[in-house]
Amino acid sequence: MAYIKIVDGQGIDVPSNPTIGYIEGDGIGPDITKSSIAVINAALEIAYNGEKNIVWEKILAGEEAMETTGKHLPQESLDQLKKCIVSIKGPLTTPIGQGFRSLNVTLRQYFDLYANIRPVKFFPGVPSPVKAPEKMNMVVFRENTEDLYVGIEWKYDSPEAHMVRKFLSDNFEISLTDDTGIGVKPISRFKSQRLVRKAIEYAIKNKRKNVTLVHKGNIMKYTEGAFKEWGYELAASEFKDTTVTEEEYNKSPDSYDGKVIVKDRIADNMFQQVLTRTEDYDVLATTNLNGDYISDALAAQVGGLGIAPGGNVGDVYAIFEAVHGTAPKYAGLDVANPTSLMLSGEMMLRHLGWIEAAEILESAIMSAYRDQKVTQDLARILNIKPLKCSEFGDEVIKRMRAKKPE
Ligand code: NAP
Repeated sequence: MAYIKIVDGQGIDVPSNPTIGYIEGDGIGPDITKSSIAVINAALEIAYNGEKNIVWEKILAGEEAMETTGKHLPQESLDQLKKCIVSIKGPLTTPIGQGFRSLNVTLRQYFDLYANIRPVKFFPGVPSPVKAPEKMNMVVFRENTEDLYVGIEWKYDSPEAHMVRKFLSDNFEISLTDDTGIGVKPISRFKSQRLVRKAIEYAIKNKRKNVTLVHKGNIMKYTEGAFKEWGYELAASEFKDTTVTEEEYNKSPDSYDGKVIVKDRIADNMFQQVLTRTEDYDVLATTNLNGDYISDALAAQVGGLGIAPGGNVGDVYAIFEAVHGTAPKYAGLDVANPTSLMLSGEMMLRHLGWIEAAEILESAIMSAYRDQKVTQDLARILNIKPLKCSEFGDEVIKRMRAKKPE
């Protein structure tokens, strides 16, 4: 067994047959994971003819882990994820309001997976609620380790909430009623800047035109507003030669050929801009909660959550996962759309540097969509017969083998 190695504390060295961890997940997780692993294996075989392949290591988390080990996320699973360095996971259930910390949030924080990367683009053939879905080609970089998701919050009638209300009243003359729950929104310079750095590096490497800092700084000045300021500060200090602010660019557009334009938009405006001026946006860098909302909204514009991939990436570790959740009503029925996880696998292949396999995989998925070979989430809109989850996987593999890509 060969594991990926960490190089100089950051960066990875990938052997030709790395052990990659996978978590099946809850709900539809097992169905979509099975299909996704099958298509990834097929893409590798076609691209590298056995010279590169993945040894899959099953890692327990969620309901299956609870049944087998009595814990939703046992230490052994964390150790396995650490050893594998790069993993892929199905969705995990987070019961609402039961004092249960989200396993997803725990994983992102434990491995410091600070950038949640969510590419959104249109696949011809996919039904969309907008007139020109082909204009969408954005990548969201969502901060993953702070903001409201850190989970610093207290129930309205807890002693902690009482203490915080009293502190605010005694020290700042802020009066909150006794039925007020409390949440804390931490946003730091270091964590904002490392996220924006990743977004700008991505934009430069992939020849993207602009990076937009999405924030709600007009209202939350010292958290969201600071995120914006720190983003511009970082662009000016570390990417002086490769970026330009929108303000500078507008004064003299011809002088900045090839530079990445850094701009900012207030979050509510951003939600309308992505509909009205879709083609003006490229890479978005944003705080955790904004990023959560905007990525689902963008996914809806090009056909919904069933086709939206994601990766949680830090300086060393990475866990790739679908944007959607466990869709419990479809659990075990073999009807869910596995594309989101398959495309997360495609992102993972690119992360490993295995571009040829990634392209074969993406191209076969596109080809299936173009011929409207789709699962029920999209078939019901197109009013055509749906493929099952496993049949969609078979269809993608068939197209790869037939070398009938784009
Ligand atoms: P969800 O699981 O994403 O499902 C919402 C709806 O989206 C489904 O009912 C279905 O719509 C559609 N959908 C999502 N994925 C689909 C797929 N692959 N194929 C076809 N349709 C799909 O959101 P939720 O119901 O809010 O959350 C359920 C659980 O998942 C919660 O416990 C939540 O915490 C968890 N969750 C986990 C993650 C994660 O692990 N990263 C992320 C988000 C949510 P229709 O009903 O219209 O067919």
